[in-house]
Amino acid sequence: MINDLEYSIRERYQQVRNRIAEAAAGSTNAAKAIRLVVVTKSQSLEVVRAAISAGINIFGENYVEEAVEKIAALNESGVEWHMIGHIQSRKAEAVAGNFSMVHSLDSVKLARRLNGFCTTIGGILPVLLEFNVSGEDSKFGFAAWEEEHWPKLLPEIEEILALNHIEISGLMTMPPYFNDPEKTRPYFRKLKQLQEFLKIRVPQARWSELSMGTSIDFTAAIQEGATLVRIGEAILGPRRKIEVS
Ligand SMILES: *Cc1c(COP(=O)(O)O)cnc(C)c1O
Repeated sequence: MINDLEYSIRERYQQVRNRIAEAAAGSTNAAKAIRLVVVTKSQSLEVVRAAISAGINIFGENYVEEAVEKIAALNESGVEWHMIGHIQSRKAEAVAGNFSMVHSLDSVKLARRLNGFCTTIGGILPVLLEFNVSGEDSKFGFAAWEEEHWPKLLPEIEEILALNHIEISGLMTMPPYFNDPEKTRPYFRKLKQLQEFLKIRVPQARWSELSMGTSIDFTAAIQEGATLVRIGEAILGPRRKIEVS
């Protein structure tokens, strides 16, 4: 039996996947290389269960406690959880133990803590470095809005690269909010340029992943080279309004 909730999620999921395929056809990325992370922050367990029944198997969460509760309650072996929100260092242990990828690594301190816990657990955690390419105060990430300052990022990146239990896999950004995806596109382009810079300057790391694009602007992000898009409301419907501490 498919209920209404699962039916509508299934439909929107299919529509989004069609739009991803269309956008990929006009870009240099093959559609099959683009992974869709469905963002479940402040969505109920009921919604996540319906999403799993609809065939979704990669989820993104922003808040560690909320995510750990959901992961434990669902106890699903066939799904992957990605951490996409800012991580306080005291929550690093829970992140190392519950997630299969971190999109939001934004400091050397956090990298060292994650690496320590992953060493204990005995695995290697793929991470993306988050960059602030807009200069907007409210955004996390390594400061990367001025191209002249990109070389200054290198010592910290080399420190992260030297850690054995986390593995740099690419870059992530969360641009300022605009209703018009054409206003966001320059930030996606900038992250792509930064990727090219890092490929040349730090060739020993794997920079292949670009995590960028949300419900409003994922097609522009894919046209600019995204390999991971993070989409919530366009598939799951509106989030409950919650107070975020
Ligand atoms: C909430 C969130 C998303 C998804 O946003 P939607 O508008 O629901 O698609 C993507 N990335 C991050 C970092 C988020 O916090």
